[in-house]
Amino acid sequence: MSELTITLLAGGVGGAKAAEGLAASQYANATQIIGNVADDEEFHGLWVSPDIDTLIYSLGDQIDRQQGWGRKNETHQVLSELNALGKETWMTLGDLDLATHIYRTELRKQGVRPTYIAQRLATRHGVTLPILLPTDDVVQTRVQTKQGWLSFQEYFVRERCQPEVSAIEYSGANIAKATPEALSQLTKSDVIVIAPSNPIVSIGAILAVSGIQEAIAKSGAYVIAISPLIGGKTIKGPADKMLESAGKSIDSKGIYQCYSSFLHALVIDDADRNDVPWLHDQGVDVLVTNTLMKSTQDKQRLMTKVIEFAQSRRNLRAA
Ligand code: GDP
Repeated sequence: MSELTITLLAGGVGGAKAAEGLAASQYANATQIIGNVADDEEFHGLWVSPDIDTLIYSLGDQIDRQQGWGRKNETHQVLSELNALGKETWMTLGDLDLATHIYRTELRKQGVRPTYIAQRLATRHGVTLPILLPTDDVVQTRVQTKQGWLSFQEYFVRERCQPEVSAIEYSGANIAKATPEALSQLTKSDVIVIAPSNPIVSIGAILAVSGIQEAIAKSGAYVIAISPLIGGKTIKGPADKMLESAGKSIDSKGIYQCYSSFLHALVIDDADRNDVPWLHDQGVDVLVTNTLMKSTQDKQRLMTKVIEFAQSRRNLRAA
């Protein structure tokens, strides 16, 4: 329908909800997604890419909707056997899911670009929205705690986000090269939407890849972020703790500060409307609405509203 070009920057669960909303909307054909690869880690010799798989499984309707990650109708025979062999199995990888990791690892070993592997996996699951990677290089989020530096999955899954976080780094980001696909998509975007994802470890890790922020700034696109906080709280995951460790407040102001150098608008929940005056004082547009996405209709409604708002404000700026 539209001649708009839309890019969604997305992490895992919050990112997938936004992606599904766009996929169900009239903007599906106009949208491409850039996902996060910095949660990637090797388990049992296999390369696991949790956020990209969450996007693919969600858009392909293969996700376990109760958990928000992993495959539906999943079994865990391989993991049980590995456990019996004395292997650490805190990272839950189901049998169907393991096929994805085997496939990905084999192709990576053959030198196939991770961007193409993600595309092949998306095609297998019937996903039509293009899922681009910010980089084909290895970038890994690491979390500093009292126990020392942990990989993201050690912190997130094994330690259940319990340790206090004193620092976060994106190992490899400074030397990683952005993919030509991600750079070209960002550069030609009219609207860039930042999903209600963890601003530090999901979106922050995409933005840390050199060239990505510059491409956003140069694009001239209207950049709109959806806050992952509702009533000043996360729905799931450690975004609150991570905002705190980054010296940001756990509210719309903290979210705004993560993106302030390029943000035009912030979408906040009705429950956070008290933050509007402060946000307006920063010169940012604000859309206040119900941002909780449970059903497909919720997702479609919110994402349609976000794009309509961005389009109208973008037209005003151009006028
Ligand atoms: P992860 O990589 O799987 O942790 O997923 P993301 O980084 O994409 O998203 C995590 C964030 O999504 C959390 O901070 C949640 O608060 C947020 N989130 C999840 N569902 C919703 C929702 O329906 N609405 C809003 N506003 N935020 C959500």
